[in-house]
Amino acid sequence: MRYFSTRGAGPRRFTDILLEGLAPDGGLYLPETYPSVDAAQLEVWSRLLRRDGYAALAYEVVRLFVDDIPDEDLRGICERAYAPEKFAHPDVVPVTEMSDGTWLVHLSNGPSAAFKDMAMLLLGELFAYELGRRGQELNILGATSGDTGSSAEYAMLGKPGVRVFMLSPAGRMSEFQQAQMFSIDDPAIVNIVVDGVFDDCQDIVKAVNADAAFKADYSLGAVNSINWARLLAQIVYYVAAWLRITDAEGPAARVSFTVPTGNFGNIAAGHIAREMGLPITQLVLATNENNVLEEFFTTGVYRPRPGALQTSSPSMDISKASNFERFVFDLVGRSPERTRELFVDRLQADGFFDLSGDPAFLRLRDRFGFVAGHSTHADRLTTIRRVHEAGEGLVDPHTADALHVARALGEGVTAVLETALPVKFSETIEAAVGIVPDRPERFVGLEDKRRHTVEAPNDPEAIKEIIRRTVAGD
Ligand SMILES: *Cc1c(COP(=O)(O)O)cnc(C)c1O
Repeated sequence: MRYFSTRGAGPRRFTDILLEGLAPDGGLYLPETYPSVDAAQLEVWSRLLRRDGYAALAYEVVRLFVDDIPDEDLRGICERAYAPEKFAHPDVVPVTEMSDGTWLVHLSNGPSAAFKDMAMLLLGELFAYELGRRGQELNILGATSGDTGSSAEYAMLGKPGVRVFMLSPAGRMSEFQQAQMFSIDDPAIVNIVVDGVFDDCQDIVKAVNADAAFKADYSLGAVNSINWARLLAQIVYYVAAWLRITDAEGPAARVSFTVPTGNFGNIAAGHIAREMGLPITQLVLATNENNVLEEFFTTGVYRPRPGALQTSSPSMDISKASNFERFVFDLVGRSPERTRELFVDRLQADGFFDLSGDPAFLRLRDRFGFVAGHSTHADRLTTIRRVHEAGEGLVDPHTADALHVARALGEGVTAVLETALPVKFSETIEAAVGIVPDRPERFVGLEDKRRHTVEAPNDPEAIKEIIRRTVAGD
């Protein structure tokens, strides 16, 4: 399997782009073609999932995209990443049906209680394997608005050869998220608190990576959702959820997925699963008040905003979705020239691009299955209350966003991706229903631990200096 950047660079192999992250031309890597799966294959996988579990399915899906790691090694990587004892449920990704027939796909049973664990755990194992094989080290530079950071840090903790530098916007994460990250006490995990918002952090990561000499000298890598291996890991749970739901609903069920969206990573994996032939009827993109992507999917105009509003679903407070370019690449017929024109020329000159007249955009719904909606703060509170009053427990604000949009737009059998445990956002849960969510045993006392952070101005040079000092200090 060969990989190319959305702006043309390549071909590259899987393990090269694994360590490289962003392509040298500023684009994002994608496989040259998507492998296809048919009904017979899905039937085989359905039996496999029931008999051998999630890790076995993960291996079967991942190997379709990876030909430069021996099969037996790759199997071990998947088994370690998705060992059931790392998850709060033996199914790893269980599905449950609500009383109104909506299915919840539980993606937050991992170590940091957010769906990002699903990708990060595989990434951690892949990094450890490949760095060991090459005798190399990697300095991961990432940006987080909350869940990416803790998920990456727990997944990379103790992995030989891996250091993590994680940028987060000062004061923008929930108390629980901050405690989760900042309580990690390990010299290889550096939490950098930036005087800015999440988009600033993301811009710093891009700017530091754009310094090719620095990137090479310090062997910088990425764990942000621009890393292809994260998307690859996420394809697996669409397959698993689809298999489990059609097992219950019958093989003719038409399943749509509603996805709470920020950086477009989660739903991009759904798009790829659909392109591979998984019979997903519809992909429903749900945003909060930061609805740049909803605007694109309803009007054809993509106009990133200067900053993101702070909302009660903070992991979706993003105005420039870093994975969106991958989808647009597919939308415009996989043309690197066209993609470059839109994301480099048009965005730089005009600050927006408009595909409303493009034939591909007009077929968005039929050909690509996409529809989009958004929720407000009030909608999320109402949804959390409605679910609670129906006796179905608590959902976090991101999942509530998707439940709200799914109600309006979902077609057929509706599956909603649950992306975090409510305990991560207890302030909002308390505002909605007046009770504080139960804290799983493993998170008790987190806020009382000492915090380990470095403060930095909103400036790429300051971040480079922190990396230089840390690496020199070892
Ligand atoms: C990251 C995150 C999202 C958004 O996912 P993207 O892949 O960035 O679109 C939604 N909900 C939660 C809880 C998250 O952590």
